[in-house]
Amino acid sequence: MNVCQNCHAGCCRSFAVPTTGADILRIERDLGLEFWDFACRWADPHSQIAQKYAPQFHFSDEPGMPYVICLAHVQSEVFPTTTKCRFLVESQPDEEHPLGIGQCGIYDSRPGACRAFPTKFDTTGELAVIYDIPGSGRENESPAYGLCPRPWEPSDVDPLQTLQDLAAAKFEMSFFHSVAMVWNRQPREWNLFPEFLRLVYSNRVIKEESTEATTQAEIVTIADQLKPKQHRAA
Ligand code: SF4
Ligand code: SF4
Repeated sequence: MNVCQNCHAGCCRSFAVPTTGADILRIERDLGLEFWDFACRWADPHSQIAQKYAPQFHFSDEPGMPYVICLAHVQSEVFPTTTKCRFLVESQPDEEHPLGIGQCGIYDSRPGACRAFPTKFDTTGELAVIYDIPGSGRENESPAYGLCPRPWEPSDVDPLQTLQDLAAAKFEMSFFHSVAMVWNRQPREWNLFPEFLRLVYSNRVIKEESTEATTQAEIVTIADQLKPKQHRAA
């Protein structure tokens, strides 16, 4: 049986899910949602969210605080003292499933980090490695944050799809690091960020004769087009 089947999805409750610009635009397009409906900036002063994976962004309205762009969390209906990804669909607990069952409400459009979990590339970048997953995603808190009901085995992981998901996630996160590098040279207000993303990603396809422009130079030009707007809260 698939490990995740019948699980209450402790991973979708425990973790802040870092997104890329590509993840955000895909969710907007596929679900007809706006950035502010589902994305947030998550303060990350100790780099616990970014780790060595996601870029940190700085904003002129909160100078000094590094942020990671993540999916927003909302209060759980089943475990009211806890939070969950706003796309997690919960079911009520019953005898067979004392924590209920959790299902991703945007499975086909979910971020690369969700697709790749719980795997990463090995040091050669050619093999997938399954993470050692702890019993809980958050210490000393609700059972809602308990993780996988049993250890993952290599046979639980699709050897074709998983490697493709890892490669795509790595490529998009690498591009997002470039985006962050440019943004952080001249941090602007948080309320300008969605427009910045839309401009950057809508300029990601160029014609062959335009190859003299470098990616970063293009992003700088795009950043310069941004105009200050009224402040938007986090
Ligand atoms: S997008 Fe889906 S898979 Fe990812 S954390 Fe949210 S509910 Fe879970
Ligand atoms: S906690 Fe583990 S088993 Fe449960 S949904 Fe997440 S990855 Fe799957």
